[in-house]
Amino acid sequence: MLSVNDIVTEDLIQDILNRTKNASDKIALAILEKARKKKGLTLEEVGCLINARDDGLIAEIFDAARQVKSEIYGERLVLFAPLYVSSHCVNNCAYCGFRQDNGAGRKKLSLEEVAEQVKILESMGHKRLLLEFGEDPKESPIDYVVEVIKTIYATKCGLGEIRRVNVNIAADTAENYRQLKDAGIGTYQLFQETYDRKTYKQLHQGPKADYERQLFAMDRAFEAGIDDVGLGVLFGLYDWRFEVLAIISHARYLEKKFGVGPHTISVPRWQKADGALWQSAPSAVSDDDFLKIIAILRLAVPYTGMIISTRERPEIRAKAFSVGISQTSAASRTSPGGYGQKSETANQFCVADERTLDEVIASILAQGLLPSFCTACYRLKRTGENFMELAKPGEIQKYCRPNAILTFQEYLADYASPAVKESGARAIQKHLNAIEDSAVREETKKRLARVAAGERDIYF
Ligand code: SF4
Ligand code: SF4
Repeated sequence: MLSVNDIVTEDLIQDILNRTKNASDKIALAILEKARKKKGLTLEEVGCLINARDDGLIAEIFDAARQVKSEIYGERLVLFAPLYVSSHCVNNCAYCGFRQDNGAGRKKLSLEEVAEQVKILESMGHKRLLLEFGEDPKESPIDYVVEVIKTIYATKCGLGEIRRVNVNIAADTAENYRQLKDAGIGTYQLFQETYDRKTYKQLHQGPKADYERQLFAMDRAFEAGIDDVGLGVLFGLYDWRFEVLAIISHARYLEKKFGVGPHTISVPRWQKADGALWQSAPSAVSDDDFLKIIAILRLAVPYTGMIISTRERPEIRAKAFSVGISQTSAASRTSPGGYGQKSETANQFCVADERTLDEVIASILAQGLLPSFCTACYRLKRTGENFMELAKPGEIQKYCRPNAILTFQEYLADYASPAVKESGARAIQKHLNAIEDSAVREETKKRLARVAAGERDIYF
């Protein structure tokens, strides 16, 4: 019989935070030495880094995180867009604009509207979507979710297509997760929001108020055969120090039980939402602490993809890209039907980065990073354990870099502004030259020529 303590033991976490309060800089530096070897960290070691206050030491944490991200995933940054499909929800989460008691209008997309939204996203250049549904068994039963996924994969616009659909639906049964798996999803994401039981109880009403239903959802997903799962916390609901240790405990639990840790960890930070009950974060996280969270997670769970959204301002996103983030949304709308028009219905939260995809890409290039629309791994069955075997030692970047180059070349050919075409061509040349294995470099060149000749969806 599973118990919450198998995943998160509150007393243990509080004890670690207390015990590591006065860890010396010398200890912290030794921990960073270990972290730089991409071995991950124990909860105790994470506690020491969480409690680091010295500016020099924090700069070392950032530097180590930058190194680990670069050695595992290279310079690529994968782009995606969320697609909000339905804002009907039977829950009343205090921080969310979709909560049932918010009187703002609701919308559920018809399959025709899904196709329209997808065409808009494809014509921007997106290849990966994250689907978002409020929880409502009548409005969004699993059959509807599956139909939406099928519609997305079947919708093409010119040369555009969606190649990977990740899904965020409410905690569900193994049977329903199996249907998601059969529909060909990439990652199943579900955030615990907060691992603190008392806060969780205060913030939630409705079926989601069941803390254990939420906590053990990933167990059911694994049982159903989904082996790429995404964890997350909504930072700002409770003490971030506790949440960081709790999410790492959850990752360790999955690794131990299923042999596979989280494919991704998301770091949404509380953001105002029209119609939400709470208009300020109960445990607000400063920008500096937010970046520290990202860096520590990168060091503690080095193999995981780390995701940031447009809840964050462009300047914070840019900093986050350099301390551990490996995936980002761009040009997001957070209400159903929000792409291509101003939506009159509820938004889940307010976005703080309203730039177009092309503008986001221009800034990524200016940082020396490589935008990627790659979706290769799950299509080649590099998921679950197979993926982890490559990600843990950093072998995965042998695929990430060439695939980023090829998919970014598609973007440049089909969607980029003249300025991005120019800076993007220079970036492709630079990153192509950085491929160490000459056979892979030559093969990438050949494939780039095929992309230039009009072929699409070529990957390693
Ligand atoms: Fe519904 Fe999710 Fe919003 Fe809660 S966070 S009100 S479950 S959409
Ligand atoms: Fe992601 Fe795999 Fe592509 Fe790398 S090669 S960007 S890990 S899908």
